[in-house]
Amino acid sequence: MSNLVRQHVIDPEICIRCETCAEMCQQGAINYDGVNVVVDFNICNQSMDCIAPCPTGAIDNWRMVEQPYTVAEQYGWEELPENVEGESRDSGAEALEDEISAMLKTAHAGAGGETIRPQTASQPCVNLYRRANPVIAEVQGNIRITDPSTESDVRHIVLDLGAHALPILEGQSLGVIPPGQDEHGRKHFIRLYSVCSPRDGERPNHNNIAFTVKRVAERRNGEVFKGIASNYVCDLKKGEKVELTGPYGNTFLMPDHPEANIIMVCTGTGSAPFRAMTERRRRTMPNAPGKLLLFFGARTPDELPYFGPLMKLPEHLIHRELVFSREPEKPKEYVQDRMFKCAHRVAELLQGNQTYIYICGLKGMEQGVEDALNKICAEHNLGWPKLRDAMRTEGRLHIETY
Ligand code: NAP
Repeated sequence: MSNLVRQHVIDPEICIRCETCAEMCQQGAINYDGVNVVVDFNICNQSMDCIAPCPTGAIDNWRMVEQPYTVAEQYGWEELPENVEGESRDSGAEALEDEISAMLKTAHAGAGGETIRPQTASQPCVNLYRRANPVIAEVQGNIRITDPSTESDVRHIVLDLGAHALPILEGQSLGVIPPGQDEHGRKHFIRLYSVCSPRDGERPNHNNIAFTVKRVAERRNGEVFKGIASNYVCDLKKGEKVELTGPYGNTFLMPDHPEANIIMVCTGTGSAPFRAMTERRRRTMPNAPGKLLLFFGARTPDELPYFGPLMKLPEHLIHRELVFSREPEKPKEYVQDRMFKCAHRVAELLQGNQTYIYICGLKGMEQGVEDALNKICAEHNLGWPKLRDAMRTEGRLHIETY
């Protein structure tokens, strides 16, 4: 064991094959064969450029090995090999993340670098459970949270974790392993869902969590395509068992100080992490001086997840801007349009250095929100490009879109 080297590897069970890491790698060390994204040990200089942009944390894996795994070996992996040194529950990744955060902060300060987690965010645990050792959770409830008259079947799923320790922070995700195999005999990909309950449980001080899941059933070329994981989860019955992996994500986390203003922008089920963050605030610091401002887009009020409970939250806890794109006889409106209409409120928050922005949901809204922030800042002498880069390097700008 004396000649161990540290090898950077990617977890094929979590990786969503977006290839963001390959785009970030200046060395060209990351390759994709159509099945797995892998790191070539002979090229990788461990610059860490690829770590922070990874949306799942699959990139943040390391092995101490005597003989590095070849690219060809990694292409054949369905899961990561065991770490010869074993995995600590305190997570090498966490220690590593501190190191990465510091390195990235130094390397990218002032130059528009990578996102880091908010300085007052709690320390996340990542990668505690994998396909080989998942947590078995039990379904406690599965309720539809969109009106049954609409075609959007969005579900609130509550899972009991029993005696398993699964520390989770608001903004983190868990993986669901759909049972069975695809037509080629391969196990189904793990699907990630943001946890929509706060760290102390869906029910306070209970070891349970909740997800927000939309049933995917789309018409493609005349045929109905049904999402494997989403339909599996949406059909779960009380008492059934579910295999979970994770937790994942170490930057999209909420600041934990009461002065923090949090601007949350979401579409559809992208609201999941914001339900968790809002509930955390409500439970722990309901009279915090920091403001919560939510822009939430859905087709209609009947299709907006959690519409009823959301409307009951007091204004002093959260200011809501609910935005609808398909209300009869009303013009189509998107979250970015409403942000612009609320330019004064947004600009006022952006002027302070305790404001954090989170954007979650459809990939398509990213550009629109960026344009809205640009226009708002231009009107208020704030200069968005510079402010955006500053916020990013300070861990105050977070985007999770699919
Ligand atoms: P959706 O119902 O399809 O759309 C929600 C709203 O967004 C609709 O009003 C839609 O308007 C609008 N919209 C469409 N394009 C837009 C654009 N370019 N800019 C601004 N708004 C736009 O949403 P969904 O199916 O729930 O999708 C949510 C997304 O969040 C998914 O991609 C999901 O993967 C992601 N997400 C989910 C979770 C989770 O835990 N479940 C967590 C993080 C992210 P129109 O349809 O009328 O155009």
